[in-house]
Amino acid sequence: MNQGNTFDFIIIGGGVMGASTAYHLAARGYKNILLLEKEDFFGTGATGRCAGGVRYQFATEINIRLSLESLPMLERFKDEIGQSIDYRKIGYLFLLTTDNQVDEFRCNVDLQNRLGAQTQWMSGDEIRERLPLMRLDDVIAGSFNPRDGLVDPNSVVMGYISAAQRLGCQAVCSNPVIQIDLKSSRVTGVYTPTQYFSAPVIVDATGPWANLSCQMAGFQVPVTPVRRQWLTTNVLPDLPSDFPFVIDFAQSLYFHPEGHGLLTGMSNPTETPGFDQNIDPNWELIHLEAAIDRLPILEKAGLASHVAGLYEVTPDAHPIFGRTPVDGYYIVTGFSGHGFMHGPIAGKLMSEIILDGKATSVDISMLDLARFEEGRLVNEYNVV
Ligand SMILES: Cc1cc2nc3c(=O)[nH]c(=O)nc-3n(C[C@H](O)[C@H](O)[C@H](O)COP(=O)(O)OP(=O)(O)OC[C@H]3O[C@@H](n4cnc5c(N)ncnc54)[C@H](O)[C@@H]3O)c2cc1C
Repeated sequence: MNQGNTFDFIIIGGGVMGASTAYHLAARGYKNILLLEKEDFFGTGATGRCAGGVRYQFATEINIRLSLESLPMLERFKDEIGQSIDYRKIGYLFLLTTDNQVDEFRCNVDLQNRLGAQTQWMSGDEIRERLPLMRLDDVIAGSFNPRDGLVDPNSVVMGYISAAQRLGCQAVCSNPVIQIDLKSSRVTGVYTPTQYFSAPVIVDATGPWANLSCQMAGFQVPVTPVRRQWLTTNVLPDLPSDFPFVIDFAQSLYFHPEGHGLLTGMSNPTETPGFDQNIDPNWELIHLEAAIDRLPILEKAGLASHVAGLYEVTPDAHPIFGRTPVDGYYIVTGFSGHGFMHGPIAGKLMSEIILDGKATSVDISMLDLARFEEGRLVNEYNVV
């Protein structure tokens, strides 16, 4: 550290939320920023374990609006941040297998279209024609947006961190925050095992660990860590080059091209909340059976890698932005399985809340922490 131990802003957590917030504060001209990450590398939490999907297809207006701001920021990332992030617009194709889903998704697609996202409706036959390798007899219809796709998470985190560092921000790994210092319900600084750093503003961007860090500040947040896992196959020569990001909505089962093979994941609806990031081999077998059932060529595929990570889940599957009961302590977390894609705009919104007193790029006033106590939950249907 070359500036002493006093900062204007301290950010806890070096995943996409912390990195984007650091960059957006620095881009507004603030240099005296410290980002602390507990692990030995940035982006090894949820962000580094995520499937890299980015989409406009959501069920609530607020999530669609966040995507409408965030995905174009990813498109401009190389020009603005100076880092390639391999944005592949392969499209997300949701497979719908019940009449209820069809009704819900028709409303979702109308809403997306009204707000400016060009999602298309597809009949069951059109989908079967588009995906001849898949077993889709039960698929009634689906929705497809050609601008949805994939982005490399590590490049986004490192792009923001490097850009913030070039602007003067200090970002350090292997520095867990172990205590938060308060004076009369106002935050004054943080302790790591070896040092004390003071700042009048602390941003909690600890993702699945948010409730642990908030407890250090003396309050709770309803953010539950829930394990999710996926695997990749080795080369699948028969996989067409235009294979999209396919989601079997009823089973929360997804597939997308990865290297010359495929990445596939499936959410365990009965997963016990907790911090375990080891692969659950029993669930992997259940997942593989379902995946092979949909895409029989997987029967011959070899396992290339598998990863487990933590969703940071809130009671209404929507994020939490902004102030907390502790003055000067801000939070950005709880994206419940789709935070990577909203990371760019989330960091910008945090910089607006902190510097201007209010987010202006998107109206996120309904995503405050107080909504849980006041019973103002947002309803989201489209969670995978
Ligand atoms: C398997 C899986 C697949 C996913 N797929 C997608 C997808 O396709 N698309 C999508 O948009 N989203 C996806 N997500 C969700 C997405 O990964 C998260 O919403 C997002 O990455 C959250 O970012 P974050 O910065 O809040 O959390 P994290 O990336 O977890 O960052 C928090 C950081 O805080 C650090 N930290 C915690 N406590 C402390 C402390 N006390 N001191 C210092 N540092 C601390 C952690 O080490 C961590 O690095 C997926 C998640 C998982 C697990």
